[in-house]
Amino acid sequence: RRTSAVARAVDVWADSEEKCVLRNLSYQNLESWVESIGYRKSQALMLWKYLYGDGKWAATVDEMTGLSKEFKSVVKEKAELEVLNVVRVHEATDGTRKIVSAVDGGTIETVVIPFAAGKGRNTVCVSSQVGCAMNCQFCFTGRMGLKRNLTTAEIVEQLVIACRLTADIGGVTNVVFMGMGEPLHNADNVIRAANIMVDEHGFHLSHNKVTVSTSGLVPELRRFCRESKCSVAVSLNATSDEVRNWIMPINRKYNLSSLLGALREEQVLRPNTHFFFEYVMLAGVNDSLEDADRLVELVRGIRCLVVRIRRSRGDDQMAACGQLGNLASQQPPR
Ligand code: SF4
Repeated sequence: RRTSAVARAVDVWADSEEKCVLRNLSYQNLESWVESIGYRKSQALMLWKYLYGDGKWAATVDEMTGLSKEFKSVVKEKAELEVLNVVRVHEATDGTRKIVSAVDGGTIETVVIPFAAGKGRNTVCVSSQVGCAMNCQFCFTGRMGLKRNLTTAEIVEQLVIACRLTADIGGVTNVVFMGMGEPLHNADNVIRAANIMVDEHGFHLSHNKVTVSTSGLVPELRRFCRESKCSVAVSLNATSDEVRNWIMPINRKYNLSSLLGALREEQVLRPNTHFFFEYVMLAGVNDSLEDADRLVELVRGIRCLVVRIRRSRGDDQMAACGQLGNLASQQPPR
């Protein structure tokens, strides 16, 4: 039985002149939409597999060769697939690729990071907003301010593009929401997108291979922990409120004690997982031995991993952490 919210949404689609953006829909909503255009629910599964299934990742309805001619033409008439307009792909010397896409309100960036040739592990870093409202001191995106949230389709399509780009080197194995934007400031769309990414009939990524990184929006963090089984990384970056207030202004609203307290409580509901903590080392600001000692005490009792030292990737194309949204990075490669 349809929920009343779904029924209302279907009525809107049925009456609307506007095309339905398929990648905005959860599987349940896609089923309802397929029914609303006069077809059986079972057709939705075939459509879903063409949108997200291994090796398919359709960019157009014409690529959905196994659908009946009639169904395809109705889908073509009433729905749209592509919402991103890729304007540029930069490739760094280490193989990292940064994809710049035009959307309403500006451009967004997606970074594809091959782990090592032949190892079959490729990570894609997706954006969740145009700009960001959080204003972290060390981050270029933060200086842009927030332009708007991305839709579910705009987030999911970044993964579709990355899958197509990496098809010959093993496909995408990991997704991190660490591109432009604070993902949990756009919780509705990020939760729906993350859940699409792990759906067993689609991308079928493992929950622990899809990681949402947050600066520490506590209520939305709690919500995410309850509505998705995907991994959570917290950008910690300081061991005292004084320093964190300065480098991450969100700490003035949700301080270290409320952030870490929330994680202690939420881990009870996620018994087989651990949280990740990210820590950008800023010389003379947060990298003293006292910081190291305080960090150990702060995270005591939380099942966690303080992120291993990362080799910066894609620096020569401004695709590394904290560099997204830099105008210089959006110029054509020389
Ligand atoms: Fe926003 Fe993340 Fe940059 Fe902070 S680090 S300003 S949350 S994009």
